[in-house]
Amino acid sequence: MADVLVAAEHRRGSLRDVTYEAITAGRELADERGGDLHVAVVGGDVDGFAEDLDREGVDAIHTVADGEEFDHNAYQTAVSTLADRLDAGSVVAPNSVNGLDYVPALAEDLGVPVVTDAVGIEYDDGLTVTREMYGSKVETTVDVAGDRFVLTVRGGEWAPAEGVGDATVESADVDIPESGARVTGFEEVGGGDVDIADADVLVSVGRGIEEEENLELVEDLADALGATLSASRPIVDNGWLPKNRQVGQSGKVVTPDVYVAIGISGAVQHVAGMKGSDTIITINTDPNAPIFDIADYGIVGDLFDVVPELIDEFA
Ligand SMILES: Cc1cc2nc3c(=O)[nH]c(=O)nc-3n(C[C@H](O)[C@H](O)[C@H](O)COP(=O)(O)OP(=O)(O)OC[C@H]3O[C@@H](n4cnc5c(N)ncnc54)[C@H](O)[C@@H]3O)c2cc1C
Repeated sequence: MADVLVAAEHRRGSLRDVTYEAITAGRELADERGGDLHVAVVGGDVDGFAEDLDREGVDAIHTVADGEEFDHNAYQTAVSTLADRLDAGSVVAPNSVNGLDYVPALAEDLGVPVVTDAVGIEYDDGLTVTREMYGSKVETTVDVAGDRFVLTVRGGEWAPAEGVGDATVESADVDIPESGARVTGFEEVGGGDVDIADADVLVSVGRGIEEEENLELVEDLADALGATLSASRPIVDNGWLPKNRQVGQSGKVVTPDVYVAIGISGAVQHVAGMKGSDTIITINTDPNAPIFDIADYGIVGDLFDVVPELIDEFA
């Protein structure tokens, strides 16, 4: 009952970063409960994924060859079968579109409570989960009754598991029944060529840029830094950049090494998507802008003066 099972997630042939973060959260829980950490990976190149999943702290990896990304039925069946087989006390999954799709049904299969979107966990006789509500304006704690539960963890809240472990790898034979629903394909909309969640360096632009034609300036800085361009919501709402470039609560959660926020005030809904960045640099005319509270380096200045100087420096 003390063992923890983490459900890995992959997309288009690659494991998603939130998988490694879920492993860290799962390890934390396993340490607090005195159990082992198991990881399940369902569908795709499971042998290749198993190599990447063998991070420090992982005790065992279970591969289920059937199923593919977004296959609700395969994930639900495989993860619940493994959780029962291993007698795992808890299952940890990413709080992603995929995770939220199958996790309620998984909890129902296992007959256990489910808590979604955890940003912190503590285990001391019982589980206490920290969650954020109302666009991160309110923090709540949830006490979970019983010692068996399912949990989804928000991306960007735990450091990704690193290092190489010495986990055992086992191919699990799981019978996945026919389902009434079938995944017929995967198509990304709105400039799907770029995934800002994968970028090491992001240059992010906000309403301070004023006009669409001024975007060229920050694009030039992104080029000079070898960075990817992202944005706050008003830029996307204006139709100046596609939705897949939006950082934040209703956009993407990003965790780059460097996040350069230009003309962005730091509203909670924006910060919810980028606060896990390693180094945050901001340029803003307003010294009282909330973004300075979380920035590692800040320049109080007009972006139209500062950005050209940075381009000269780095180009
Ligand atoms: C349900 C909900 C979900 C939301 N989801 C998101 C989300 O996912 N992502 C998101 O970003 N927002 C989101 N928002 C919107 C969010 O509340 C803010 O409105 C938004 O983040 C503000 O964007 P901004 O910082 O670019 O603009 P503003 O808040 O207008 O800030 C512009 C900043 O630029 C500075 N500035 C102006 N001129 C210059 C200049 N010349 N040089 C330098 N600095 C300058 C100003 O001082 C200011 O700080 C959401 C809101 C709601 C209600």
